[in-house]
Order: sequence, then C-alpha cells, then structure tokens
Amino acid sequence: MIASPPASQAVSLAIEAAHKQFSGNNDGKNASYIPYLASVPSHLFGIAVGFIDGTVIEVGDTSYEFAIESISKVFTLALVIEQIGAEALREKVGADPTGLPFNSVMALALHNGKPLSPLVNAGAMSTASLVQGKDAEDRWRQILNMQSRFAGRRISLSQEVNQSEQTTNFHNRGIAWILYSSGAMYSDPIEACDIYTRGCSTLITAKDLAIMGATLANGGINPVTKERIVQSANVPHILSEMMMEGLYTASGDWLYSVGLPGKSGVGGGILAVAPGKLAIAAFSPPLDEAGNSVRGQLAAEYISQQLKLNIFAPG
Ligand code: GLU
Repeated sequence: MIASPPASQAVSLAIEAAHKQFSGNNDGKNASYIPYLASVPSHLFGIAVGFIDGTVIEVGDTSYEFAIESISKVFTLALVIEQIGAEALREKVGADPTGLPFNSVMALALHNGKPLSPLVNAGAMSTASLVQGKDAEDRWRQILNMQSRFAGRRISLSQEVNQSEQTTNFHNRGIAWILYSSGAMYSDPIEACDIYTRGCSTLITAKDLAIMGATLANGGINPVTKERIVQSANVPHILSEMMMEGLYTASGDWLYSVGLPGKSGVGGGILAVAPGKLAIAAFSPPLDEAGNSVRGQLAAEYISQQLKLNIFAPG
C-alpha cells in the first residue's frame, strides 16, 4: 500500500532547503551542441512539487520557460502507448536500457537496429513515427496537444529553439535513416525526425513540469484539469521506461540515490515521479557529462531522501 503524500509544510521546507543548498553549485555546463541552449542563463534554478490533489509548491525560477527537450519523449510515449497499446510499443521500439549515451549510434549497431528504449533519441524518433495520424502535421499537432493536456495549459513551440535544433540536428537525421534501414522507423524518417525535433522545442516551466509529472503520479489523470489523459494500466509502463533510461547512462546511479522514475532533458529540466503521491520538477541548465542537470539531480536526491519517497523503501 502506498503511504499518503507528505504534508505540504514538509515539502516546502525540503524544497527551500534544497534550493538554498545547491544554488551555489557551479558544476556542469549548459548544453552547447544546440546553440540556443548555450545562451540560457546558467544561474537559473527552480524547483516545483506537484501533488496528486493539484497543489503545486514552488521555489526559485519556476516561471522561466525553458526547452522541454528530451522530457518530451515521455509524453510522445504516452500518446503512442495509448494509440497502439503497450505490447505493440514494446515490440516495435523496446523496453530495455541501452547503457549508452542518448544519441548513440553504437546502441543501434549492437542491437540489430532496434532502439530498445523510447527515451533515447533513436527510440523517440521511432515512437514519433508511430503516432497515428493522417500526415506529419496531424502527428505533430497530436504531440503538442498531448504535452498541453499533461501541463493543463496550451504549450507552444519556440520558433527560436526549433530553428536552432533543425539547423544542427544532422546526427539525429543520420539515426533516423539507420532506423529506417533496420525496419524500426514507421514513417518517412526525415518527417519523424522533424516532428520529434519540434516536440523537443516547446517551452515549459518547472511548474508545468510538476503538473505533468503529477499527472503520472496520479495514475494518468491531470490533477488540475481532472482530465484522464492516460489509462491507468499504461502508467506503470511509462514509469518503468523512465526508470530504465530516464537519465541515460546515469539512470542506474539516479535510481540508486533517488529511488524514483525520472526523466531529464538537455534544456536543464528534470522530473521525478513518486507514484500515488507527487512529482518533483527542477530546472537548472548546467549539465553533467551524461547530459543531466547537476543542481536538478542534487535537489531531487535531497528531496526524495528528506520526504522518504524512495519507492524501494516504502513507509
Ligand atoms: N533535442 C535533443 C536531441 O535530440 C534532446 C536531447 C536530450 O534532451 O537529451 O539531441
């Protein structure tokens, strides 16, 4: 049985202490392979916790709009799992960790061109190609709509981020063609790469991310709008994919110390979901070598420990 969520006062204390403790940490660097991301002020740091009753508690830069990047993969996965079912998703994309970096071509070479996880670039493009729609624009609208429904407000594409990504995403285009040749790309590869890239180029705040995560913590119902977005039976599949690959090559270390399914993005966003309780969202642009927000990881670990959220140590 899941214990009840921690009291809001304890959460406030924990996030304020985490913010104070880690805001002076200057380790890591903004991602620079996407030019826009290099220009985001590195000092920004916000933490928001979203509860399953819709309450959000925040500290720091929680209204700053940042690029969702890889965290978008979770919501496209949710869309496709709803459309084609969990078994088809596992068969066509996979449900295993790759143990290799998020944009690894080697991972594909080692696994006969199968992406293994919808949360690495290859698997996310493969998943984008599975969105059921009449054309690429229709698929894109559905991806954007899914992000908006999770956030409970209209999420928008940043033309600036998208332009920055679309003009530098040659590596991802190469991966898309490899997937096509191995039979794991289910639409035109460049179209899939395009809508995947747009999905990474939307702007969210840490507060949005807390609500998006709280929707997963709440079994697929957005706790603010009360809309059911994902069938409850699909939520554990999404969370298990996050657990295996959410922080790329650091997914094991993350689990070892935080004990929660998570997902990060190279824009500096990071999300941890405590099922049945709440979600922790943080935003801080400097990343470690694995591509995960340094302050975000420290904050999530601290908050998880303070509030005893580790799913392997219930109660
Ligand atoms: N748009 C980025 C890419 O495809 C997302 C990567 C990430 O956040 O990990 O490289």
